[in-house]
Amino acid sequence: MNAKDGFRKFLHSPWVFLVLFAAVLLLVNLIGGTNNYSMEINYSEFLKMLDEGEVASVVVTNDTLTITPKSHGINQPAIYTTKVVNNDALVGELRAANVEFSAKTPAQPISILDIVMSASSLLLMGLMIYWLVSIWRATRSKGENGKSSGLGGFGGFGFGKSTAKQFDVQNTTTRFTDVAGQDEAKESLIEIVDILKNPGKYTSVGAEIPKGALLVGPPGTGKTLLAKAVAGEAGCPFFFVSGSAFVEMFVGTGAARVRDLFQQAAKKAPCIVFIDEIDAIGKKRDGTGLGSNDEREQTLNQLLAEMDGFDPEKGIIVLGATNRPEILDKALLRPGRFDRRIPVELPDMKGREEILQVHARKKTMAPGINLKRVADATPGASGADLANILNEAALACVRDGRSSVTQADLDKATEYVLAGSEKKSMVISPEEKRIIAYHEIGHALVALKQGGAPVRKITIIPRTNGALGFTMQADEQEHVLQTKEDLKNRLQVLVAGRAAEELMFETCTSGASNDIERATAIARNMVTRFGMSDTIGLMALDTVVDPYLDGSLKSNASEEAAAKVEAEMKRLISEAYEGAMKVLKENASTLNHLAEYLLMHENITGEEMVQLVEEEKKTAVMEPADAAM
Ligand code: ADP
Ligand code: MG
Ligand code: ZN
Repeated sequence: MNAKDGFRKFLHSPWVFLVLFAAVLLLVNLIGGTNNYSMEINYSEFLKMLDEGEVASVVVTNDTLTITPKSHGINQPAIYTTKVVNNDALVGELRAANVEFSAKTPAQPISILDIVMSASSLLLMGLMIYWLVSIWRATRSKGENGKSSGLGGFGGFGFGKSTAKQFDVQNTTTRFTDVAGQDEAKESLIEIVDILKNPGKYTSVGAEIPKGALLVGPPGTGKTLLAKAVAGEAGCPFFFVSGSAFVEMFVGTGAARVRDLFQQAAKKAPCIVFIDEIDAIGKKRDGTGLGSNDEREQTLNQLLAEMDGFDPEKGIIVLGATNRPEILDKALLRPGRFDRRIPVELPDMKGREEILQVHARKKTMAPGINLKRVADATPGASGADLANILNEAALACVRDGRSSVTQADLDKATEYVLAGSEKKSMVISPEEKRIIAYHEIGHALVALKQGGAPVRKITIIPRTNGALGFTMQADEQEHVLQTKEDLKNRLQVLVAGRAAEELMFETCTSGASNDIERATAIARNMVTRFGMSDTIGLMALDTVVDPYLDGSLKSNASEEAAAKVEAEMKRLISEAYEGAMKVLKENASTLNHLAEYLLMHENITGEEMVQLVEEEKKTAVMEPADAAM
């Protein structure tokens, strides 16, 4: 930034007024202090001064005399005043003493003080107007250096200008090595780094350069850290802006801010624009368009327009972060916008240990520290939680006046942090973890026995969407056509989690709520839209309201029909539940074996699962033989 810019920025800042004001006050004080220092004296004292020939001049105003002495010392007043005692001889005496004298009408004399005061207030007003006008202009023309003054509460007055913070290249020292675990996320991001470094490589073969990627994951899992690492690895500027910053302050400025942000980014390209909490602007447009929604929609529309507008060859890549991907507007996720979704999930056991190692490197640890023990004790903790544990341990060690962090510090800090974050992030007790493991294996085992779509992954690491565990089947996305059998199988898999809980623990938990919701939706569609229920027949009792938005259903059923529909749905789900229960009972030992393995490892891939089931079969064949002997 050059000196001119610096000066302009200074003029834009509200501190100018404080400084100016203080200066003016000081000036006024000084002038008043030296030149206008006056003192009231008795008339007799005046007469004495007159006799001693000390008076230079006198001004008579009504009954007041303003006396200027011939000379005065540093600590003596420059002007004396006194009230006239009725003295007709005054004029004669003044003449005799050879004193200059005159009379004045009692108008207030204009002092130098008044001039200074009015001049300075004019100046202040002028500056105030200049300030407001320049801000107004900046709002319209989107500013040129893009930094708001950012001075405490005044900072907001830089409205309309983007508050994107410009991190200089040398400031972004974050590298992929600073992010532990998250291998899948890193893999997807490495390509983006490569694109930023040599865009020509991609454009020369005519490949369309992606414009944006969405980092999706729970808070504290390292989304911001990853985005920074991308900028750091590519050695390019990193623009950070929070989605809520677009809509928080003044109505009607969100869209201008977006425009501003992209203009600045274009100047610095290649660069990374990181929009944190993108759900704040990217929420689904619900089409009602009332009040505050308008503001958000305009901002979102502007963002969409900007993302369509910029030339991808310039190398601006927009990274968004959210922990609520399901509420994002579909338009944001379209190709050419945030078409890549990069999951940033909570770390598993191994990931947790690695994160602890990354952060332990920066601290002085006593020899023989066992970080794995901390990783073991913290299922469900995020990267931020783990960083916090190490920091708390270091603080405790300083408090005790020791020079290195001990295992005891760590254990205490673990307890402390977990207790504190119990509500925020999901920290899971061993019993809960057990139930979740059986629940997930329930899903996976039933899916496996159906022989349909293979299971890809089972995990008991809590997921972004609030699910405590997760079983992924290869083709969970809807087929173009689904048979009644497909859907019934799907229902069975969905309720198998709950069935496993009941079978193994004779209890049921709230963890199945999402399964139940999805099963209900499938059953409803089967009955009211797909004509798969004999009782209802081929009738469309539901219609999809907004097929391009969230696809919610509107019921057309009469009251009696609605009751019948629900009875049918219930029948379908109960049948599925019984089917699932039967499968699980028949394979109870496999269920146990898999669940214990999952408890140990927190993640199982599809291949591992098949292998484990094979293993289990062999031992199961041997077991009855053992028993016979
Ligand atoms: P998010 O943006 O996902 O909410 P952050 O990137 O802000 O999370 O992470 C917060 C802090 O947690 C980071 O500054 C870092 O210290 C720590 N952290 C989170 N995930 C990791 C990780 N995978 N490796 C190392 N540190 C991590
Ligand atoms: Mg963040
Ligand atoms: Zn489930």
